[in-house]
Amino acid sequence: MGEKKKKIVKRINVDVDKCNGCRACETACSAFHATPKYGSVNPARSRIRVIHEPLKDIYVPVFAGEYTPAECMGRDKYTIDGKEYDECAFCRASCPSRDLFKEPDSGLPLKCDMCESDPDLKEPLCVQWCLADALTYEEREEEVEEEVEQEEIDIGLEALADKYGLEKIMDTVARMSESKKG
Ligand code: SF4
Ligand code: SF4
Repeated sequence: MGEKKKKIVKRINVDVDKCNGCRACETACSAFHATPKYGSVNPARSRIRVIHEPLKDIYVPVFAGEYTPAECMGRDKYTIDGKEYDECAFCRASCPSRDLFKEPDSGLPLKCDMCESDPDLKEPLCVQWCLADALTYEEREEEVEEEVEQEEIDIGLEALADKYGLEKIMDTVARMSESKKG
């Protein structure tokens, strides 16, 4: 068991009934994560995607979650209030079975990072730009095990190793470690 430490748990509440499918959240997220920052807009780079079917009056924001190297053995399909959703519609995974939540140029997995790269943001950008208030933000403090961080590092390295091969990752780490020493 690792040491306990305090952690701020950040939560975005999604009120699907308020979402009108404007996709401002996708625009804001992709611009925030562009290089240079705010230099371009491409919803394919967004860490939030809106299930968007105007003819069925379906609008559901879904946040990018964990990377997985293997797809599920089966598929899920939901019907809610008589509305049928596509297979895997609500899944947050960056998974080999589809293009969703993958950086379009490199294919590397995308994951919502709560916009943590800019500590001056009072709220994640998608929340700020959701003028319909379908997305709202709150924080709370919790005690967690230190190992959580290690788990996140493991997942990130696993994704890179799947993409580039373990040997290349090891070489890169060795090179980085040498240059730090120099
Ligand atoms: S910005 Fe808000 S209302 Fe617009 S698509 Fe995103 S979640 Fe829905
Ligand atoms: S919290 Fe930030 S990273 Fe996550 S979906 Fe919203 S804008 Fe994108």
